[in-house]
Amino acid sequence: MTTLVIGGAGYIGSHVVRLLVERGEHVVVVDDLSTGFAERARGADLVELDVTLPDAQDKLAFHLHASGADSVIHFAAHKQVGESVAKPELYWHDNIAGLANVLAACASAGVRDVVFSSSAAVYGVPDVDLVTEELIPAPINPYGETKLVGEWMLADAERAHDLRTVALRYFNVAGTGWPDLADTQVMNLVPIVLDALDKGKKPIVFGEDYDTPDGTCIRDYVHVVDLAEAHISALDYLRGEERPYRVFNVGTGTGSSVLDVIAALSRALGEEIVPEIGPRRPGDPAKLVCSTDRIRETLGWSSSKSLDDIVESAVAARRGTPEATSA
Ligand code: UDP
Repeated sequence: MTTLVIGGAGYIGSHVVRLLVERGEHVVVVDDLSTGFAERARGADLVELDVTLPDAQDKLAFHLHASGADSVIHFAAHKQVGESVAKPELYWHDNIAGLANVLAACASAGVRDVVFSSSAAVYGVPDVDLVTEELIPAPINPYGETKLVGEWMLADAERAHDLRTVALRYFNVAGTGWPDLADTQVMNLVPIVLDALDKGKKPIVFGEDYDTPDGTCIRDYVHVVDLAEAHISALDYLRGEERPYRVFNVGTGTGSSVLDVIAALSRALGEEIVPEIGPRRPGDPAKLVCSTDRIRETLGWSSSKSLDDIVESAVAARRGTPEATSA
């Protein structure tokens, strides 16, 4: 089996590449290396290509043909909510044009199976205990909108061509499977807290007056290795016969507050982190926790790693210690 992984030199993509290579699959990584690193694609062939460019479709189709790829996993996209609000055109153009090129290339090269990185951001601010895939998506920022439109594009492409697709709606991804694949971007809570501490600053909690037990926002933190394994399960699902669903949540089903995450980081570091309490961040839902029923029952996937596993691996990778290889 050959899989072409677009964005395979990035944080999540490279974890999937590593698992596929370990499983003995032939992997071609396509990445423009704007935020990824070539070294992360170890064990795979690397093609440097920006899939948003007008000629990318033909180039992708060529590489799909040449490698004999039978599946594609598409990660490459902009993924910062704040940036998407400030620069909506960038998101509309790159996230949508990139996916359009990928789907058209798959159709012309006769590749059937496509796994797409979607996001819990498609749900917006749902007022429910557990978010199921049946909930009507209502994104509240351009990032989430591009992910939802991406899911619609997959459905359209399936109708038009001989394609089979799955969209995985990631909840809050963190941790590290291998130290060389650590998240180097400081965009999410765990790396932000570690970065603040490295700089001798106090991390800031965005609001403690939410309607939650400790007043801080609750999220569903999933270990990047668990998430990577969900992609392998999705590929196996596409390669099988039965295919009742095209959209799956990927999370643990367990919520952790911002203070829970900071407490777990304190345990991992062996020192108490005293955060500063700041104002709420606009657009933050009080609680976003995943219902895992569909993915567990249909793909047979469930998470195996705890919040402590997540933060310990992130801390170990930052310190360059071997615990981060525990995956
Ligand atoms: N958060 C925080 N301080 C920070 C960064 C994030 O309190 O410096 C909170 C944020 O309000 C949210 C949670 O941590 O409740 C996770 O935020 P992140 O940006 O990592 O992911 P999101 O849930 O927005 O996708």
